[in-house]
Amino acid sequence: MQCPKCAHEMERVVYNDVEVDRCKLCKGLWFDSREHQILKAMDGSEAIDVGDPEVGELFNTEEKVKCPACHVDMIRMVDSEQPHIWYEGCSVCYGVFFDAGEFRDFKFHTLMDFIRAFRVRERK
Ligand SMILES: [Zn+2]
Ligand SMILES: [Zn+2]
Repeated sequence: MQCPKCAHEMERVVYNDVEVDRCKLCKGLWFDSREHQILKAMDGSEAIDVGDPEVGELFNTEEKVKCPACHVDMIRMVDSEQPHIWYEGCSVCYGVFFDAGEFRDFKFHTLMDFIRAFRVRERK
């Protein structure tokens, strides 16, 4: 499978029998339908998200992302509980793509939100 963001090769990563695809370059994560929900509920699953969130943020601005499985344009989705998290979803296969660091963020919102607020303060 090819990364929908940077077109680099993706590798299979297995966590507790759930398989996801991770880009070898940008470390973005591809989840088949509902796998991100299943993994979110699992202890320690954030270990699959090894990328640098700063790199992930650079790829977040990418427009027109195609589903790596069905090659149709994906739609931008926003998590209802954490509106700062933007990810791409396919309306055909229901797969979703998270940029590096976004899955970790999706899983631990309070901690990451705290860190983000802290970072913004530092930059000023
Ligand atoms: Zn990539
Ligand atoms: Zn698809």
